Amino acid sequence: MLSQQVKDYLQANRQRHLEELLPLLRIASVSSQPACQPACRQCAELLAGQLGQLGFDAQLRPWRDHPLVLARRAADRQGAPTVLLYGHYDVQPPEPLELWQSPPFEPVVREGKIFTRGASDDKGQLFAMLKAVEALQACDRPLPNLIVLLEGEEEIGSPDLERFLTGARRELAADYAIICDSAFFAPGLPSLTYGLRGLVYVEIAMRGPAADLHSGTHGGAAPNPLNAMVALLAALQDAQGRVTLPGFYDAVVPLTLQERQAWRKLPFDPQAYAALLGTQPTGGERGVDLLERRWARPTLDFHGIVGGYQGPGAKTVIPAAVSAKVSCRLVANQQAGQVVKSFRQFVAAHTPPGIRSEIQVLSESLPVLVPLDSPAMAAAAGALYEAFGRKAVFVREGASVPISELFQRILGIQPVLMGFGLPDDNLHSPNEKLELEQYYGGIVAVAAVLSNLAGKDSLAGKRG
Ligand SMILES: [Zn+2]
Repeated sequence: MLSQQVKDYLQANRQRHLEELLPLLRIASVSSQPACQPACRQCAELLAGQLGQLGFDAQLRPWRDHPLVLARRAADRQGAPTVLLYGHYDVQPPEPLELWQSPPFEPVVREGKIFTRGASDDKGQLFAMLKAVEALQACDRPLPNLIVLLEGEEEIGSPDLERFLTGARRELAADYAIICDSAFFAPGLPSLTYGLRGLVYVEIAMRGPAADLHSGTHGGAAPNPLNAMVALLAALQDAQGRVTLPGFYDAVVPLTLQERQAWRKLPFDPQAYAALLGTQPTGGERGVDLLERRWARPTLDFHGIVGGYQGPGAKTVIPAAVSAKVSCRLVANQQAGQVVKSFRQFVAAHTPPGIRSEIQVLSESLPVLVPLDSPAMAAAAGALYEAFGRKAVFVREGASVPISELFQRILGIQPVLMGFGLPDDNLHSPNEKLELEQYYGGIVAVAAVLSNLAGKDSLAGKRG
């Protein structure tokens, strides 16, 4: 439990904690726009300065176009565990500007919500982590060893972050990692994300004749790589919507009865979801629950096929070369490398005589599935209850959060995804907002989880 003293401190300092967030929100740190590079740097400097004031040894690490902020603060107690906190200071472009009710980088509070680009994703959430540290420090409460990693390229896909983490593996060694960059499942319903899907994305190329050919003169004799490609793609799924790659489902961890029951209780409205799609949610495997298909089952989707004549009207061509982009979302414990291997074998086996095929891997990441009964999860769930007065639900997410997978794979830490945005925060859209109660509650929650973890012993010895 968070001490009453810390709670009173946070209550008394709400207005200041809001005011101190504003300068950060005013900086247009759009990582995708080269003109914003100085702004991004300014943002990183501001954060490093704030961390310095909190007693951190804070540095800017030059990294690609936007520096990383890396800060450390030692605990008073020997044997205290180390907690790695992650957030990102870069934001999505604000365009289209005409749809904003107030300028995107002039934070305005309306009806208990603060509107600016980056308010929820992710400046408000990362700043809450800093304010939580401030509160514990001001009230003389013990803190764990802390490492804060703030990234400036999350919104452009964290290119090459893997290389940084690999190089900084020792420096970043920690017992626990907390990522504040996600949202509640529904308003009033704190959520902990314990599962994320991984990805294998490939491009398949097929070549046949040396040049495009006349289908009248050579049709029936020349092998057509486009015919071969569509036959291959069609063979990748069966009539039940199952992926036919050999061994594809072998490692899939089935949903437990407990998870299934818990998910059925979530306030999820399939009608509203269908309305969002603009069609019925009929994709994926037949006979499998909708949330399970989105969160806990692997998928296969085609993203583009190129080959032959794409212009208006008819052109009777047998193309020389074609290609297709295909990806699979993976779930625990599928191995991306194994799926790629299976893809290669499948494509080779479905390449007819006279056609040459080639496969290129464009992206791969592993799924994440964090045990629900870990000490960090328990601490996070308790902290959310303390902050928001309601038991947290455990949810998964269909997409990947690259940093979680990297923490797990490179640093060997099971991340806790404990965000406090809301589903209607308009992330990446005009009029992004963060509700002030979510911000203040987020500070309480982070303070509570840090306070709890500070009392545990470092796992370093056991980890080896
Ligand atoms: Zn984010």
